[in-house]
Amino acid sequence: MVNHIRQSLAPGLYLVATPIGTARDITLRTLDILASVDVIAAEDTRSLRKLMDIHGIALEGRPLLAYHDHNGARMRPRLMEALKDGKSIAYASEAGTPMVADPGFDLARAAIAEGYGLISAPGPSAVITALTLSGLPTDKFLFAGFLPNTATARKTALRGLAQVPATLAFYESPKRVAAMLRDAAATLGGDRQAAVCRELTKKFEEVLRGPLADLAEELAQNPRKGEMVVLIDRAGERIVNLSDIEQALCAVMTDMSVRDAADAVSHDLGLKRRDVYQIALRLDANDEEG
Ligand code: SAM
Repeated sequence: MVNHIRQSLAPGLYLVATPIGTARDITLRTLDILASVDVIAAEDTRSLRKLMDIHGIALEGRPLLAYHDHNGARMRPRLMEALKDGKSIAYASEAGTPMVADPGFDLARAAIAEGYGLISAPGPSAVITALTLSGLPTDKFLFAGFLPNTATARKTALRGLAQVPATLAFYESPKRVAAMLRDAAATLGGDRQAAVCRELTKKFEEVLRGPLADLAEELAQNPRKGEMVVLIDRAGERIVNLSDIEQALCAVMTDMSVRDAADAVSHDLGLKRRDVYQIALRLDANDEEG
């Protein structure tokens, strides 16, 4: 059975989403586009070729070009030239939606800047799939992509997200996920609810839900392989008293100026900077007297 329809397409750049695991998670429209465009560009030509084979789409002499982070600057003029000639081009990243932690941004921007058609054929993305499985609120979420690799930079990035009133979503590698959860528990609080969504739509799909501290412990004790998305609940309403503020200030004032400590603590606790600064000045003065 042929699942796609060859058709004459308007010129332009077609961004097509591809499956994140199960090959049948592809839309009929994406199959139609892949069967019909003049030129196909892909982050990973081998995996797209395989996907097209599974769905019975032949290249029939059409170019299948690699376009990824390392050759984008070189390939873009060639693709722009094809658009100028009135061709239709499909672009697929290795898996999921192009440009979501994947290449394609510069290409889409160039197409917009030159006034060519830009068309999206939406489909799978790991972040949305994970969000719907996490059991965490979906009313607002912030996709933060991959966190930095080093613990210091990772903790700084997490602190910057501590008070965001939305579910936080991260892509993470299996090698770093235990360290990331440990740092998240230390920075955001071990009792925040979270979920680790692994190998989505694949044979070994697994969703672990629980407080950050428990997930950090589980992943440290029993490491898992595969692709993962980590989701973390927003900060709960917190009642902060004076001694909480003083404690937080004392913890950072050994390494920071009074001004920076007030900035950091007011940000972390969601308080007015001016109020925290006054408390920090008093603590500093007490310290000098003592
Ligand atoms: N563009 C893709 C999308 O729309 O989801 C994401 C590409 S990004 C380079 C790859 C990361 O996405 C992986 O490291 C993992 O964090 C996440 N990911 C992709 N497929 C996944 C899957 N089947 N299960 C869980 N996470 C996945």
